[in-house]
Amino acid sequence: MFQLGGWKGYRVWDWRQEDRGGQSWAVLELAPVEGAERLCSGCDQPVAAIHDQTVRRIRDLPLFEYAVELWVPRLRLACPRCGPRLERLDWLDPHARVTRRLAESVARLCAGTSVRHTARWFGLDWKTVKAIDFRHLERSLGPPNLDGVRLLAMDEFAIQKGHRYATVVVDPERKRVLWVGRGRSRAEIRPFFELLGPVRCAQVRAVAMDMNSAYDLFHVVAKYGREVIDRVRVDEADRLRADKPARRVVKTSRWLLLRNRENVPDEQVVRLEELLAANKALLTVYLLKGDLKGLWRYRREAWAWKAWKSWKRRALRSGLEPLRVFVRRLEPYLSGILAHCRWPLGTNLVEGINNKIKVIKRVAYGYRDDAYFFLKIRAAFPGLG
Ligand SMILES: [Zn+2]
Repeated sequence: MFQLGGWKGYRVWDWRQEDRGGQSWAVLELAPVEGAERLCSGCDQPVAAIHDQTVRRIRDLPLFEYAVELWVPRLRLACPRCGPRLERLDWLDPHARVTRRLAESVARLCAGTSVRHTARWFGLDWKTVKAIDFRHLERSLGPPNLDGVRLLAMDEFAIQKGHRYATVVVDPERKRVLWVGRGRSRAEIRPFFELLGPVRCAQVRAVAMDMNSAYDLFHVVAKYGREVIDRVRVDEADRLRADKPARRVVKTSRWLLLRNRENVPDEQVVRLEELLAANKALLTVYLLKGDLKGLWRYRREAWAWKAWKSWKRRALRSGLEPLRVFVRRLEPYLSGILAHCRWPLGTNLVEGINNKIKVIKRVAYGYRDDAYFFLKIRAAFPGLG
């Protein structure tokens, strides 16, 4: 047989089984063990005299199919230094309604699943579960360590689409979320810089902002696909009105043209080659797509600028209007893009964090609580240490 326990200083003096709404419960009444050493929660010193006691109902880990409720006489000790003070217990936090080990199990489950699932699993109220997880995260994360941060990446995300926004600050070198705060204005981000302080601020060598919209390779290439390749393809299809078979080939080539070359299956490669050989405009925009991606590969800004100038010259010389428009729209962002040559700021990381935020939000049953939501985001990217 096993011994029930884990309630240091207390023993079971009575227990009963109850049926509550179809769930079997084990109700264990605890009693203080006579002569056990008891510590004052004010000064941590042993105190012998008991001032008074109040019985509290405390949830503990389930026992087989039984939900477990403890009736715990919470003692107030008559401390000569502090006056009447609650006894310090290492298995039950002051004013907690669940034992510490149940809280730890709840927090562990919360790390991998939603508050709602965890609440159902343990038969707890979701508000209790959220409060437990909140305290656990706050305690385990602590304040962020901002020492030695050289690079910062910032991005905003919607809490409620179109209504409320938050900003996330990332250390791309150590792959961790440093700060999450409500709002996206300069004033709303200031608390982070105050936390960072002037000395550490001076050590930051680059800050990347709004990386999703303009600086990101993925977005620029997607934009190129939409605004250049698609447009030229439609224009070419129009131009080939008289040549039905050729027109059909162009019209159905969207997928082939937008895909990365290395992802085109072998049996389609011939089709792609034929299409490009037969259509000069499509060949031009296709080749320029590959070279556009090349801009992100340079590690020296001067080389990247040179490559951009050559790219721009070819784009403008093609005489294709969508290319001209694209150049005009991209150019204001170019210094930001090419800054990556000096500081590869991990756009993949920011992309990953954004995706994770979406997932956290989706499973965030009852996360009307921004502070909790932000803690979950920080916990998901604690960094490399
Ligand atoms: Zn005391």
